[in-house]
Amino acid sequence: MPDEITPLNDHTPGRVLAVMPHPDDTEFFCGGTLALWASAGAEVYICMVTDGSKGSDDPEMTAERLIAIRQEEQRASTRVLGAKETFFLGVPDGEVVPDLALRKRIARLIRQLKPDALVCPDPSVVYYGDYINHPDHRAVGEAALYAFQPAANNRFFFPDLLAEGLEPHQIKELYLAGAKEPNVEIDTTTALDAQIAALREHRSQLPNMDELEKGFREGGETLPDGSKRYTEKLRRFVFGQS
Ligand SMILES: [Zn+2]
Repeated sequence: MPDEITPLNDHTPGRVLAVMPHPDDTEFFCGGTLALWASAGAEVYICMVTDGSKGSDDPEMTAERLIAIRQEEQRASTRVLGAKETFFLGVPDGEVVPDLALRKRIARLIRQLKPDALVCPDPSVVYYGDYINHPDHRAVGEAALYAFQPAANNRFFFPDLLAEGLEPHQIKELYLAGAKEPNVEIDTTTALDAQIAALREHRSQLPNMDELEKGFREGGETLPDGSKRYTEKLRRFVFGQS
């Protein structure tokens, strides 16, 4: 039986790191939640794992130009979401492997930033309905999960990080975005405009943004007074004190 989904409102982690696969995934997966938290005072950082270099069918496009365009789009979107900064790991699009090297890069970032909360894709999702989940999404979720635990919080993992002065760090909360079995629902109504504006920055990827916006706005729940309520559902884990 699926777990009960409980509302999680009036809760803002102090510092958040979202580890995401491709430019524009952050906004689709959890853009409302991140924008909401940022507007409530959270320091939000985004770790963009891939370079987005396969996001085009244009025969005139080159991978090099596409990488530059997509980084610029992501930076602009990051600003719109109210996040502080995006860190680009530059793994070639479509080629993410959740190996020790990637785990270490994410663990390094976790020890550097010391976030209270980590957000990443649910690595267990092979498909959503008719949509086969992108292998990078699963791989990034897995790499991020195991970077946080057992690597970032254990001093014996990657001893060279410790030698650099990067002490182990324990994250307090983990959120799986696009979760197969969500257990919390966050009211993102006040953040919907920011989420849509952030998506609009990904011009190279979303040529039919007006239609997409219409879909977003028509979604959500209609309240008795006719107004709309929008939510994002995530799987939340709490470690120690929340
Ligand atoms: Zn993606």
